[in-house]
Amino acid sequence: MAHPAIDFEGAGGVDLDRLERSLTLEGRRVGEGRYHVVGGDHDHWVDLYTTSIPRCDCGDHLWRDRICKHILAALLREGNDTVVRALGSLFERVRSAA
Ligand SMILES: [Zn+2]
Repeated sequence: MAHPAIDFEGAGGVDLDRLERSLTLEGRRVGEGRYHVVGGDHDHWVDLYTTSIPRCDCGDHLWRDRICKHILAALLREGNDTVVRALGSLFERVRSAA
């Protein structure tokens, strides 16, 4: 299985606020590592493996160079270990805020 062309360290890691928002999105798999992500203000297209185009076509990723909620939604559906483990951090944060 191909490895997602994503530099987690360079992008500042998994942002927990974005991860939380990504959980309400719907990721429709349309191909190898390709997702149509709906449920937010706008629909977006994610491509995890092709390096010739940006991973997502949203402004958060294109302009701020962040791992956006759409990419996180796609990575969750791919079972990406880094993102799944970040869910643990998210739950810890929720628990400590309660
Ligand atoms: Zn995006």
